Amino acid sequence: MRLVMDGGTKELVADPKSVKVNKTTGTGMDIEWKDGHRSSYSFVFLRDACPCALCQEERDKDGRQPGDSLKPVAGALPIFKALARPTEVEPVGKYGIRFTWNDGHQHGIYSWEFLREWCPCQDCRNRRMMNASAGDKKPN
Ligand SMILES: [Zn+2]
Ligand SMILES: [Zn+2]
Repeated sequence: MRLVMDGGTKELVADPKSVKVNKTTGTGMDIEWKDGHRSSYSFVFLRDACPCALCQEERDKDGRQPGDSLKPVAGALPIFKALARPTEVEPVGKYGIRFTWNDGHQHGIYSWEFLREWCPCQDCRNRRMMNASAGDKKPN
């Protein structure tokens, strides 16, 4: 597979056919999978989907799924948060990709499997909703 990042291309062997990280424009990451499926993730989505234990725990508390943004607390003033952007992006072997975020957070390693599972496109959202309502076991 081909990982295209600002200033270089790296050849990797993994499930995605190609991964494009639009770090300079800040638009997000596009993945084309070997089966032809395409996924586009905004950086905000990816930050909210951070798979590290800490972020998982916080999401569990609020009943959020990976990629769901924090629900505003009723009556509370909105806290200004800079839009999530990665300051560094690096491949993690064949396994996935790691982002260092502009808020300093850097513990999440996004495996290709995880990214495919939480693809934000409408088809995959529908599939996850069907799985959830059918009472299938949830991922993780
Ligand atoms: Zn995290
Ligand atoms: Zn999808």
